[in-house]
Amino acid sequence: MYTTLADLFNQTVQKYPNKEALYYVQKNQRWTYAEWNDQVNRLANALIETGVNKGDRVSTYLFNTSELATALFACTKIGAVFNPINFRLSADEVAYIISDAEPKVFLFEHAVAANLKNIHSKFQDVNFWCVDPDPPSYAQFYDQKVSAATSDEPKIDVDEEDLYAIMYTSGTTGRPKGVMHRHRDMVEQSLIIISASQLTPQDRGLVTAPMFHCAELHCCFIPRVHVGGSNVIMHHFDVKQVLQLIQDEKITLFFAAPTMWNMLLQEDLSQYDLTSLRKGFYGAAPMAPALVRACQQKLNIGLLQAYGMTEMGPAVTFLLEDEQLLKAGSAGRACLNHDIRVVRPLENGPSDPDDIAGVGEVGEIVVKGPCMMIGYYNRPEATEKALYKGWYHTGDLGYVDEDGFLWIADRVDDMLISGGENIYPREVEDVLYEHPGVLDVAVLGEPDEKWGERVVAFIVKKDPAVTESDLDLFCKDSGKLADYKRPRKYYFVDQLPRNASGKIQKFLLREQLQTNVKR
Ligand code: ATP
Ligand code: MG
Repeated sequence: MYTTLADLFNQTVQKYPNKEALYYVQKNQRWTYAEWNDQVNRLANALIETGVNKGDRVSTYLFNTSELATALFACTKIGAVFNPINFRLSADEVAYIISDAEPKVFLFEHAVAANLKNIHSKFQDVNFWCVDPDPPSYAQFYDQKVSAATSDEPKIDVDEEDLYAIMYTSGTTGRPKGVMHRHRDMVEQSLIIISASQLTPQDRGLVTAPMFHCAELHCCFIPRVHVGGSNVIMHHFDVKQVLQLIQDEKITLFFAAPTMWNMLLQEDLSQYDLTSLRKGFYGAAPMAPALVRACQQKLNIGLLQAYGMTEMGPAVTFLLEDEQLLKAGSAGRACLNHDIRVVRPLENGPSDPDDIAGVGEVGEIVVKGPCMMIGYYNRPEATEKALYKGWYHTGDLGYVDEDGFLWIADRVDDMLISGGENIYPREVEDVLYEHPGVLDVAVLGEPDEKWGERVVAFIVKKDPAVTESDLDLFCKDSGKLADYKRPRKYYFVDQLPRNASGKIQKFLLREQLQTNVKR
């Protein structure tokens, strides 16, 4: 028998009423579970009074805030569907999501209000609530709504099969898609994470990555609430503040995307007492083995990698602490209760999940598990394709080795073909990351008359003295790259375009290369 996320929350409140649940750093506010429950109930009742019924959507367009955390559990108590929106999206992109999700209430803060200025009038049926004082004229003040409502436990029947959230994908490969998850999917996800990371009520987690993204929300924040641990919420990632908070708040674990780990390692870590830290999570994007090694050496902590995607809740595989060195670069093995297959991709249409590739053979990764989405919101055709024969088709390429470990080669869309040879940019990126003068790298194909595509690398330098020929020699000497995989051209840039989940937006770099060709 499953429970709902509301049951999970209420159980923790009952067990640990006086334990610190949240510390919201930006406003220097702390709540015990009993105090937080009071806020959650007030918001739930305020939503009911505004006409939010079971099944209605409530969107948040917020940085990491206590209000986002409260909105999540308020929705779960009344069966409203939680819809956290990426705070980095532009006005047009937000308008697209509002018209797709059609929320009844939309919570936002001043930090993003400029984006709503031109679009709010298009959405007359939406109640805009601002979490900061002095809301714009089209919005109401969240605190007023919440403090006017009662803190009684709302009496709404919510079932494990009911929809808990619509989470939009990162939009790395196109328009974000609304992924529908039920309560039971997320309770299951939380249990899987608790067991993999051996969470206890003593754990104090730092919320650094964006909470609108399932890596932070489902793999870190909710499981910590589930066990009665504490969450320290940072409004947004700031590298020095992360280190200071680990020291001051005795943080035991946190998640960071590879690019955030990279930034942390550039700091003088000896300035801080980081001894409380026991575990770090990484995932959501590939992390070069060189960076994993550097994290282990400099921070002396256990690392856990998760590979996954919004559609799967997200976790699909884990590379556990004791596997990090032996299988550096691999994504690990399937999470509990999950099945993974690598199958032969088809040119047109979804690959057949029964056409299983051999050991070491690269193919499309398809997965199955209890936290799989029930579908994309408003997109039956995309759903049918993605869940063909009951397996989620990830669009990622990879292979399984003789020990059953999964290795991600790249996304289907990012693979390039030069002179008829398949090249996985990630393999080249992993080599370039080993160069001490390289801070960041993206490899992709540039249109080429002779070869179809040629390999090029965008490089952010750590050492300004690094040259194209240094890097070329380094690739040659690495012994890891066949000649046709070596970049034929290096573009030195100040930074790489990344989305809010820390993923490199290669389509923007591709556009840049296309313009170069036309010039
Ligand atoms: P969209 O589906 O809108 O294009 P997206 O796929 O980036 O965006 P997410 O669901 O946030 O949206 O990300 C899932 C993808 O992130 C995976 O399919 C995979 O390509 C990549 N990814 C996640 N974890 C890892 C990991 N540990 N190693 C390598 N790649 C990863
Ligand atoms: Mg995707």
